[in-house]
Amino acid sequence: MKPEHKDLHVYNTLTAQKEPFSTIIPGYVGMYVCGPTVYSDVHLGNCRTFISFDVIYRYLKHLGYKVRYVRNITDVGHLEGDADIGAEDKISKKARLEKIEPMEVTQRYTLGFHDMMQIFNIAPPDIEPRATGHIIEQIDMVQKILDNGFAYVVNGSVYFDTQKFANESNIEGYNYGKLSGRILEDLFTETRDLKNQGEKRNASDFAIWIKAAPEHIMKWKSPWSIGFPGWHLECSAMSTKYLGETFDIHGGGGDLKFPHHENEIAQNAGSCGKQPAKYWLHGNMLLLNGKKMSKSDGNSITPQELFAGGSEHISKGYSPMMARFLMLLSHYTNPLDLTNKALSDAEKGYDKLTEMYNKLQELVPNNDAPEFDYAAFKKKFYSAMNDNFNSPLLISHLYGLSTEVNKRISGEGISAHDLEQVKSLVEEFMIDVLGLRLETQTTSNQGVENELMELILELRAQAKSNKDFGTADLIRNKLSDLNITLKDSREGTEWSYE
Ligand code: AMP
Ligand code: ZN
Repeated sequence: MKPEHKDLHVYNTLTAQKEPFSTIIPGYVGMYVCGPTVYSDVHLGNCRTFISFDVIYRYLKHLGYKVRYVRNITDVGHLEGDADIGAEDKISKKARLEKIEPMEVTQRYTLGFHDMMQIFNIAPPDIEPRATGHIIEQIDMVQKILDNGFAYVVNGSVYFDTQKFANESNIEGYNYGKLSGRILEDLFTETRDLKNQGEKRNASDFAIWIKAAPEHIMKWKSPWSIGFPGWHLECSAMSTKYLGETFDIHGGGGDLKFPHHENEIAQNAGSCGKQPAKYWLHGNMLLLNGKKMSKSDGNSITPQELFAGGSEHISKGYSPMMARFLMLLSHYTNPLDLTNKALSDAEKGYDKLTEMYNKLQELVPNNDAPEFDYAAFKKKFYSAMNDNFNSPLLISHLYGLSTEVNKRISGEGISAHDLEQVKSLVEEFMIDVLGLRLETQTTSNQGVENELMELILELRAQAKSNKDFGTADLIRNKLSDLNITLKDSREGTEWSYE
């Protein structure tokens, strides 16, 4: 373990405080993050949440923790409008509309999701369980909750009794509503105009097993009815199965605090008497021009639209790594508004850092150079990430490093030893921790680009020495169309992007 792991602090939604991070088993982290509902293509908002937790996963591993990262695939039970009853299952609906099997829907969008995760360089989780593969575990959990008296059966559906749980359960440090900051009385009396609400004892009760209508495709036998599990149940059952009754981190987008996560806690506590996760971490929302990005509201853009540019919202196209970088420029607990301006500003920063990375690869050391204080940067990098994974602060320190590196390049240079230290620091934080995929740009693309430019400049020099000024000018003008400028001097010609 790196000594710096001792200083990590994380913001825990459950206690509404930044707390020192200490794991249940020293050296090991169990982390569960709610994955996608695979009924449509992921939008960039979903990607933001998975990028945020990817950086958290990467940093924990960087510190030396052995992490078991579980991120599920929701392939049943998530109803339209996040309702718990009386609405259609999102996946069933898609299957019905497209006249295909629900399994075809989930297969198509799971594959698409995995492709997108790779494009954004998001590391795969260690376990990726599916709700439909864990029906037995979910039925067992419903039974335990019933046995403990915190649920009741009506017409083949099973409901979690939130009022009884709130009044009678005795969970240290937790009462129903605490995570999302809801007021119990409001929850109990809140009226919702939905089908089957009448079967509930309290408005805030939620279905944990739902009796399926005859036309429903995805259904399983249970002691109560042929039906399907409620959406919140899968995460309780699968986190317990793979991480135990208590584990270290539970994460997800902030929009899941209520009802999803609050109800998850109620189910875990209602079945085994324990609040499941020590730290509840929530990512904030990606906005599009000031409004939460959401597919159902029609305010979303797909990653492909961002890469291609020319869409209604975003005019220019950006690479996946630039988009990832933009996401990291905001703290994961803050909202981030996707706009043309935010993207073009981010691009300048991204270019600065990739340029530093490239220059470091090519730099010839000068062993007479004075010491380079890389240790000071290392300290700042760790203290940024140890402060609840503050990636924007880390990036601003990386800008600071690039300024220093540039000064040295045009001045005294850097010794071989210090250069190695700086290079590994940059690699550790930019590539391993922030997950920016930079290698290919330097070793292949950048290398080829440099060689091609050398060739072009040589041809131009030859044309000039043959007094073929027409060709020399043609080369200059064509390069200028590509935003490349040439600077002639006695030593030769230098090129740069405008
Ligand atoms: P879903 O597929 O709707 O279950 O969502 C998958 C994940 O994406 C969840 O963790 C959501 O909280 C998250 N999410 C949905 N919309 C956004 C958004 N606009 N910004 C950030 N995360 C989001
Ligand atoms: Zn979940």
